[in-house]
Amino acid sequence: MASASQLSHLPHQAFIGIGSNLIAEGFDNLHLSLSAAVQQIGCADVAVAGQSSWYVTSAVPVSDQPDYLNAVLDIRTAFEAEQLLDHLQQIELQFGRIRTVRNAARTLDLDIISFDDEVIATDRLDVPHLRMHERKFVLYPLAELAANWRDPRSGKLADALKAECDAVDDGSQKCRLFAR
Ligand code: AMP
Repeated sequence: MASASQLSHLPHQAFIGIGSNLIAEGFDNLHLSLSAAVQQIGCADVAVAGQSSWYVTSAVPVSDQPDYLNAVLDIRTAFEAEQLLDHLQQIELQFGRIRTVRNAARTLDLDIISFDDEVIATDRLDVPHLRMHERKFVLYPLAELAANWRDPRSGKLADALKAECDAVDDGSQKCRLFAR
């Protein structure tokens, strides 16, 4: 994890969702390949300041894909939001993600959940992530890491979004702490 002096020159804060349900080539298990991806996110312009636990989650929408392992990272960065997306997409490629159909199984999925308290809507980016409110695999690790994070669109806290998601869940979204 980054030290306070490493973080001081990185003006922006973002939460990144990380997940996978396919082991990247060269690794023995999902946890190892995802941990290597977290290491890759750190660079001169990005420091990982915090990380949630890993969660075992079912695919959304429900399908017969293998379970995912998901977490949320708290990062500091000198990048603007689209530069950060470029950086994350390079890492997705590096870990062998092949884009096929939407919601296909993947070796690595990296999403910008939030960027400072900005609301961004461009051709490439919607931030905060548009579907985070309906996804336990985002809200559980986010609420663990930052229960008091406030969604700039709705004004709701991460904890409240998680409670709302739980209230409408029909039991199909598995999300439990990963035990190594
Ligand atoms: P996915 O296949 O679900 O990872 O979606 C990838 C696409 O979503 C990319 O083409 C991005 O440009 C777009 N996108 C829109 N908003 C976001 C976001 N907040 N984080 C990551 N990708 C995003």
